[in-house]
Amino acid sequence: MQRENSLKLFEEAKKLFPGGVNSPVRAFGTVGGFPPFIERAQGSYLYDVDGNRYLDYFNSWGPAICGHANPEVVSGVQEAANSGLSFGACHRLELELAQEIQKLVPSLEKLRFVNSGTEACMSLVRLARAFTKKDKIIKFSGCYHGHFDSFLVKAGSGLATFGLSNSLGVTKETAENTIVLPYNNPDLLLEVIRSEHEQIAAIFLEPIVGNSGCIVPKQVFLDALVTLSQKYQVLLIFDEVMTGFRVAAGGAQSLFGIKPDLSAFGKIVGGGLPVGVYGGRADLMSMIAPDGPVYQAGTLSGNPLAMTAGLKTLKLIQAQDFYLHLEQTGKTIEDGLRKIFEHFEYPVIINRVGSMFSVFFTDYRSNQTEINSFEDAKKIEQKVFSRFFRKLLEE
Ligand code: PLP
Repeated sequence: MQRENSLKLFEEAKKLFPGGVNSPVRAFGTVGGFPPFIERAQGSYLYDVDGNRYLDYFNSWGPAICGHANPEVVSGVQEAANSGLSFGACHRLELELAQEIQKLVPSLEKLRFVNSGTEACMSLVRLARAFTKKDKIIKFSGCYHGHFDSFLVKAGSGLATFGLSNSLGVTKETAENTIVLPYNNPDLLLEVIRSEHEQIAAIFLEPIVGNSGCIVPKQVFLDALVTLSQKYQVLLIFDEVMTGFRVAAGGAQSLFGIKPDLSAFGKIVGGGLPVGVYGGRADLMSMIAPDGPVYQAGTLSGNPLAMTAGLKTLKLIQAQDFYLHLEQTGKTIEDGLRKIFEHFEYPVIINRVGSMFSVFFTDYRSNQTEINSFEDAKKIEQKVFSRFFRKLLEE
């Protein structure tokens, strides 16, 4: 396999960007090797600068859910571009996309467009604090909510101890306002909320985790989140940046029948262009400027091209049996992988919800049968995964 041009570009990129990239995971740090430089993408394939073709299993982390360069999305964006790239002013497409989103996710009584998932989650922290007049948030280990300071926090030692900053530059004071708990552990959640609810503004979670591999919430955990947030007046915030329009047209909240107070969306909602959305209960959203005292703004928010790509994508996902097809495709991949690993007697755990899936390589000696948290996921054979990853890329 020829990869010289990618290597050359990566060497040049390293002189320009930290690690050669504009987002850290693209540097392949944990899996080793160097990244292919992509020249173009079409349907389910990526093509690199050395002429290699890759069957793409990650689809730009979700936004390419209807296939790369989908003709309807592309022609919509081209047409929109003829009318101007950015107005910095109100326009009709913002309403059209918002109405489409609301139809699919009714919990968004009011919403606001931003430019990334990070921005959406960051704005929600501010809003939750303003509304509840409390400062702390709960997040779960292994869940990623973007790179805002309050989320770059890891669990401290012991139960309800303060979080510790996960990145230099995040102040101790900021980290101390984030409580990090293990996913799928309703007992710990109860204990912490009971003792600290007077200081806790909100619980943030990925309703199905995608950022430490695919981790599925247990029903008892979901029940505890709903019951405790209501009982102790702590806002329940779903970060659906990954799951939104991915696991179902209405996101994980429709799958689980839960109406969170607030939610964040990103990725698919922009159809490949930079869009984030946050929203939820109208009484909460009325706190946002200019209606209320919580400031949040954006020069390119609601950009017409991004609105068009999002709108076209959301129309496409509403095609009949779209999610049934995704489920069947996901199941075909899962069944095929299981067969292969069984054949080689290799112990793996595969977690999957529709098209979100992960293969966890377990230790022969561990008898591990489930991955329900980041703590479980950390026990896997990372080196084996890295080899699997690189081999898939080569093949
Ligand atoms: N929340 C979740 C669940 C995500 O997966 C991500 C990105 O990977 C984010 C938030 C941050 O979104 P963005 O990368 O658009 O800032």
